[in-house]
Amino acid sequence: MPSNMLAGRVAAVTGGASGLGLSTARCLASHGASVFLLDLDADQAREAAQTVGSAVEHHGIRCDVTQEEDRRTALEQVVHIAGRLDILVNNAGIQYHASAEAIEPDRWRQLMAVNLDAVMFLSQSAARYMIPQKSGSIINIASLNALFGMPGRVAYTTSKTALLGLTRNLAVDWGKYGIRVNAVCPGYHQTPMLEEYVRRGVLDPERIRRRIPFGRIGLPSDVGDAVVFFASDLSSYVTGQHLVVDGGYSVFGAPSEASA
Ligand code: NAD
Repeated sequence: MPSNMLAGRVAAVTGGASGLGLSTARCLASHGASVFLLDLDADQAREAAQTVGSAVEHHGIRCDVTQEEDRRTALEQVVHIAGRLDILVNNAGIQYHASAEAIEPDRWRQLMAVNLDAVMFLSQSAARYMIPQKSGSIINIASLNALFGMPGRVAYTTSKTALLGLTRNLAVDWGKYGIRVNAVCPGYHQTPMLEEYVRRGVLDPERIRRRIPFGRIGLPSDVGDAVVFFASDLSSYVTGQHLVVDGGYSVFGAPSEASA
């Protein structure tokens, strides 16, 4: 339900042009935040920004989160336009499905660069603005793979597990500055990433549904709503935590049939 809970707050969402990032941007905007979408393609980010839909103005900015220069200039633009930065959602992420015996070093490093290194160093850039403000909320989008392994996902699982460690330690380091750092662990949600894995036969949506107590694949907005909680004062005494948003998948005890 829309509110003004985030009115006056400025948010940047990486990987904001599609999937969970775009949906999260819409959720933040529906609670009054001014939202900037950071993504690889400027046109796609700007087009997506038009659909975020709120009274305040929204912006799409080109940013490859693996590039230091892009990270720095993207946040500079946000602060130049909006005057501050209150919320950073580190959502951009990639998957690499390969058996552990066949992992290629370059693909491993590329995945770590997006899913882990970029989160550290974009958070560091954001903290330069948040520390003088004595406030800020950083939300990292992890995965169920931060909690357990799955066949063929060793790179992804390693990156998302480390992301929870990063979340906890940044919370410890930056609590004194009033910066909160939390994570959301999505389960299976209807996004282009999931569709791509279904198309390639890596995931079977029917098997996944049978394994989810709620009996449905998650909506992207299920994740956005959890991000809103961490972004808002509703969680003002919560830091270093992760919230699993998976319809009960991870607490279902029967043997998994979900993964190919
Ligand atoms: P998606 O592929 O639909 O969207 C990812 C976005 O990130 C794209 O817009 C892409 O352009 C952008 N991106 C990729 N590399 C980038 C880079 N170097 N710099 C800037 N942007 C970049 O993916 P999604 O399903 O929306 O996933 C979003 C996040 O949620 C990821 O971190 C993913 O690991 C996590 N996640 C998704 C699911 C799911 O069910 N979809 C489940 C668990 C976790």
